[in-house]
Amino acid sequence: MRGFDFLSPKSLIAALRAIDGKAPTCKLLAGGTNVIPTLRDGTLKPRFVVDLGGIKALNYIREKQGWIQIGALTTIRDLLNSPLIKKKGSLLWEATHIFAGPLVRNRATVGGNLADASPAADTAVPLLALGARVKLRSLKGQRTVPLNRFFAGYQRTVIKPGEIVTEVTFPVPARGRKQSYYKLGRRNAMAISVVSVAVLLQMKGKICTDTAIALGAVAPTPLRVEKAEGILRGKKVDLELVKHCAQAAAKSVKPIDDIRASADYRRTLCEVLVHRMICQSLGLEDAD
Ligand SMILES: Cc1cc2nc3c(=O)[nH]c(=O)nc-3n(C[C@H](O)[C@H](O)[C@H](O)COP(=O)(O)OP(=O)(O)OC[C@H]3O[C@@H](n4cnc5c(N)ncnc54)[C@H](O)[C@@H]3O)c2cc1C
Repeated sequence: MRGFDFLSPKSLIAALRAIDGKAPTCKLLAGGTNVIPTLRDGTLKPRFVVDLGGIKALNYIREKQGWIQIGALTTIRDLLNSPLIKKKGSLLWEATHIFAGPLVRNRATVGGNLADASPAADTAVPLLALGARVKLRSLKGQRTVPLNRFFAGYQRTVIKPGEIVTEVTFPVPARGRKQSYYKLGRRNAMAISVVSVAVLLQMKGKICTDTAIALGAVAPTPLRVEKAEGILRGKKVDLELVKHCAQAAAKSVKPIDDIRASADYRRTLCEVLVHRMICQSLGLEDAD
């Protein structure tokens, strides 16, 4: 590992001052589960490493005026242990169960998971379906970016030099909203997604009044499949409609062949899993 200056600010303002003007030689560190391996293997050679871990004010989970607010330094374990997330963000809560294993969950933060911008990021997919927004702070001020505009490409985000992710928020889902998350990996623990799917459905009788469908590991970024969502919205949902929706979801993705699965297999899984999860949520007979 190459030498670097290690800065450990205890407040957000001190961290913002520490990184000001230092990009691209400066690397932010949160839980370190992505950063430390790349420092060790030499892929990353920063001049400065700024550890956000001492900023206790960025670790919280709370509800305020109809929104769930999660500080960027909240760990995956904190999300898993949160009764509030379990009750009001069950989609996200489900994702924390199958996130790596306990050791990684104890360190990994939600801010780091989003900023790392992996297409398979396990918090990103449910948060996209929940309509989350990301708060960014710099010395110049604060801005809020909808999560579906936060990812700019494979492992790229819209974070500008001098900015830090401080919070992710999502509106408390309406009562009775059906939420489900499914991650298919090559094993049950410590596995990166082959495909992950988050589905959120609001029903009035048999009519779907609102829906959100997000997919992971099937494109350069986690994504919402808005065409597929549009097929359900405002319609009476039956098996035929679910089939069209699942086919549209599979058409919207751009998967790659890699060590975990082929692109064709991933595309097929999108259709099968979207179909299955909608059917299961609504108690429709799953023909597949
Ligand atoms: C063994 C293992 C298993 C894993 N399994 C999974 C898994 O199942 N699912 C999954 O989604 N991920 C998995 N990961 C990846 C990793 O754990 C997550 O992406 C984690 O959430 C990253 O968070 P962190 O706090 O460790 O980030 P760090 O490693 O500290 O940082 C990650 C990136 O985000 C930037 N960053 C961090 N915080 C901020 C901030 N507040 N503002 C701006 N930029 C910031 C850093 O500069 C860096 O570029 C795994 C990793 C390992 C090593």
